[in-house]
Amino acid sequence: MSSSMVSHWPPTLTDQQREELTLRATTYALSHGLIYLPVADVQPPAPTSAIHAPLALFPSPFPRKQFELAKRLQHAYNVLYARVALDEKFLDRIMGAEVGVGRVDDFTGELWKIWKRLCDEGIQQRLHLGLFRSDYLLHAPEKGGPVSLKQVEFNTISSSFGTLSQNIANLHRHLAASTEYFNSSPFLKLQNLPPNETIAGLAEGLATAHKAYESPSAWIMFVVQAGERNVFDQRWLEYELLEKHSIHIVRQTLDELATSAEVVPGSRILRVKLPGLLPRGAESVEISTVYFRAGYTPRDYPTHAHYQTRYVLESSVAIKCPSVQLQLAGGKKVQEVLTQRDVAFQFGEDIEVNLLRSSWMGMWGLDENGDYGVHKAREQAHKLVLKPQREGGGNNVYKEDIPGFLDALPVSEREAWIAMELIETPDLGNYLVRAGSGTEGAVKTEVVSELGIFGYALFGPGRPVEEKEVGWLLRTKGKESNEGGVAAGFSVLDSLVLV
Ligand code: ADP
Ligand code: MG
Ligand code: MG
Repeated sequence: MSSSMVSHWPPTLTDQQREELTLRATTYALSHGLIYLPVADVQPPAPTSAIHAPLALFPSPFPRKQFELAKRLQHAYNVLYARVALDEKFLDRIMGAEVGVGRVDDFTGELWKIWKRLCDEGIQQRLHLGLFRSDYLLHAPEKGGPVSLKQVEFNTISSSFGTLSQNIANLHRHLAASTEYFNSSPFLKLQNLPPNETIAGLAEGLATAHKAYESPSAWIMFVVQAGERNVFDQRWLEYELLEKHSIHIVRQTLDELATSAEVVPGSRILRVKLPGLLPRGAESVEISTVYFRAGYTPRDYPTHAHYQTRYVLESSVAIKCPSVQLQLAGGKKVQEVLTQRDVAFQFGEDIEVNLLRSSWMGMWGLDENGDYGVHKAREQAHKLVLKPQREGGGNNVYKEDIPGFLDALPVSEREAWIAMELIETPDLGNYLVRAGSGTEGAVKTEVVSELGIFGYALFGPGRPVEEKEVGWLLRTKGKESNEGGVAAGFSVLDSLVLV
């Protein structure tokens, strides 16, 4: 990506052209299910309206070479995380509640205890499904200098925006096809906008697990949050599974499952009771696969009973996406430990560790070597982010906030945090379009774009990992000048123009 091109993004438009593109974009989004539920204190049970998802008017330039590299890396990451999830000793040591992060982080500890209880009772489905998303930023520490691809994090639970990412890629293709973006940039040609088939790919992952369960008439269950606004992202998968794979879906919250879920003694088949809602007078359905779009944050477990419900699901023979130990494998602490000397190599000689290494920023634990980890974080605060064992955004501490945060952090809690060097993204801009934001139309903003690569892996002890790379996502965030462009400003869906 040449620096001269970067400084000219987004291409120049007249007001009239910008308004025309905005009209085409928002109407395309609404017609093609690139939508969210509107903000409301209480959502009606059956929604009556939707708003278009926040979107970027232009696709964002991304070097073709780094895009190809990210897709290639996905195979290595799929296999690596599958093997981490199967390595009981490693996970006990890193995430456990006796010697690992679970000692000082209650949420991690509760998840780990569920897993250990299952191990003690000897009752777990041996197959696991991961629908993963590995996230990257471009690293360009010197203006006009080389650009490399660096991993932000690897998600093993509730990786979202897979299906909407396909819809936004199609939206940008539509704008290119219908308007040629008014010839505003030579890069904006259809052949530079890569196809994105995440809907089929992610559904294939779920269908692969369903098939491996070997009970074709069973259903797949989506465990969801009450009040979720991003429901259409989930519904697209549901429609694809029924239409292409003839698999039925039931959606349940952890609250509902406290009474609706039952594990049949003996067979340990998971059944969900849906009296009055099933054909032929059936009272309940058998579940082949449990797909968690909830359960990744402690807020999803407001009482201990919610952890008990998770235990009940985990104790069944249904295949979990993810199982509780695959969720633990996705911890930020695991990501950091994998970058330590020789650690990644222990997960198999067939994994391209040197390729993986090229995507890592420097990381260490705050508990490293007595006070050394904290000392180093203080010294280098201006180029660091600190992360706890949490998902879903808004949990990190950046740069100038780090010293004060470290002053207040009890020594005993250091183990739950990692320090990571900041990725320095190239300067780009875009027009961002949000519904119901109070701002009219497209707003020109300086942005940071985060690439996500989706992959699935079906795996278990003593069998090869069945894995695939299944598409991509670009999320673009407004740069917040006071936080040096790393803080999550508002985030929109975006797609790639390869350069
Ligand atoms: P979460 O699991 O909550 O999404 P992330 O590790 O993805 O946590 O961090 C949230 C956001 O913080 C990222 O989307 C990115 O914008 C920013 N971020 C995280 N790590 C870095 C980093 N090393 N350099 C720059 N920005 C980062
Ligand atoms: Mg995450
Ligand atoms: Mg993230």
